Amino acid sequence: MSQDPNCLFCKIAEGKIPSRKVYEDDDILAFHDIHPWAPVHFLLIPKQHLTSMAHVDESHAPLLGKMMALVPKLARQEGCRPYPDGGFRLVTNTGADGGQEVPHLHFHVIGGPRPWLKG
Ligand code: 5GP
Ligand code: ZN
Repeated sequence: MSQDPNCLFCKIAEGKIPSRKVYEDDDILAFHDIHPWAPVHFLLIPKQHLTSMAHVDESHAPLLGKMMALVPKLARQEGCRPYPDGGFRLVTNTGADGGQEVPHLHFHVIGGPRPWLKG
């Protein structure tokens, strides 16, 4: 597993920095965002260091497919109400123009009854 020793989310993936876990397997970790915008707000990351969506190529398709396929299951598990009245928002900020603050690929899954703090 390739990791960056200076990367915050690599440290969370390795358990060196604690997080409130939502899901974990060999390749993927999901944990609650430290500053939630909404009643449900968790992050889904690959455990291997991958800087952003701008760094993704076809070799990452199985990993990203697995991450995407987990989203609805984890969203329901964490309290997002059923589609279509419920649902959730899936966000991946990429680069400075995209508003990315942590340079390790992450999917925000945001949901629950409104109002939200942001968005
Ligand atoms: P970005 O702006 O890069 O898309 O999102 C980074 C997210 O990571 C933010 O929503 C922020 O609240 C969250 N975050 C930053 N540091 C930590 C941390 O140490 N622990 C957790 N659980 N979330 C963090
Ligand atoms: Zn990383």
